[in-house]
Amino acid sequence: MSTNGHSHSAPPILLTISGFDPSCGAGTAADLKTFAAHGCYGVAAITSLTVQNTQGVETVHNTPSAELREQLGVLAKDCEIAAVKIGMLGNRGNAVVVAEFLDAHRIALVVLDPVMKSSSGAELLDAGGIKFVSTELLKRASVITPNVPEAEVLTGLTIKDVADMEAAARKLVEMGAHSVIVKGGHMERAVDVLLDGNEMVQLGGDRVKTENNHGTGCTFASAIAAQLAAGRSLFEAATLAKAYVTKAIEKGYAIGKGRVPLDHFYRQKIEPLARGTHEVPQHGMHPAAEPTAH
Ligand code: PLP
Repeated sequence: MSTNGHSHSAPPILLTISGFDPSCGAGTAADLKTFAAHGCYGVAAITSLTVQNTQGVETVHNTPSAELREQLGVLAKDCEIAAVKIGMLGNRGNAVVVAEFLDAHRIALVVLDPVMKSSSGAELLDAGGIKFVSTELLKRASVITPNVPEAEVLTGLTIKDVADMEAAARKLVEMGAHSVIVKGGHMERAVDVLLDGNEMVQLGGDRVKTENNHGTGCTFASAIAAQLAAGRSLFEAATLAKAYVTKAIEKGYAIGKGRVPLDHFYRQKIEPLARGTHEVPQHGMHPAAEPTAH
């Protein structure tokens, strides 16, 4: 029984530190949906309120750093956070607050998605923030998940093929990252490169058209955080996260005139629980709603 009298134990609590997208395809909302789809409870600190719909980002209002610090502080003093996913930070000030938070709380599982620009071209991290991520924040993450353009900015390398992606992953480890996944969604071959310690592996996957999808990077990083919190290795977590994202893209449906969000809850629709097989009615359940237990 917990201190507040509830007898159910909580699933892993995952924290997203990210920007809010009102169309809920990317950012905080995508992260929370991903956490929920993995059976986790999500909490969120908002780094920025973006003004956007499926057609693109119009403006960005970054959270004042002192407010972000307060948001993180109240959450940390209240709940046990199993893993953190970091997405859009907006500016250097917010990136510094996040580094201080990670230093103060020593959370073991930290997935850093170094978001820099929206596909419509809006700046989601300022130049000082990019510098801070590359020199400071990446050292504090368990894994950093840049796409090819982000890996190019962080490393200064030009990436044209999988060998270049591997070179960028090695350079990011030299720069202090523990593990790296360079996402190849923007490339001819949709291969991701994972460097964990000394081991380099390529994660293949079904070729899915991702150009028209919104929130794939956020979803991938959040799914990795959920799988790491469940105790999986980084390789297993990344493989499962890639499979989840691929399916969620396939099942996505348009909600506006622009890019298509993922269907984070496709599992609920394609795999409904067979009545009576998985769910045995408990004492107190409405008798008409469920078959009687034998
Ligand atoms: N808005 C927020 C809050 C994000 O975190 C991101 C990406 O991570 C985007 C927008 C950009 O999404 P897109 O790749 O669809 O442009």
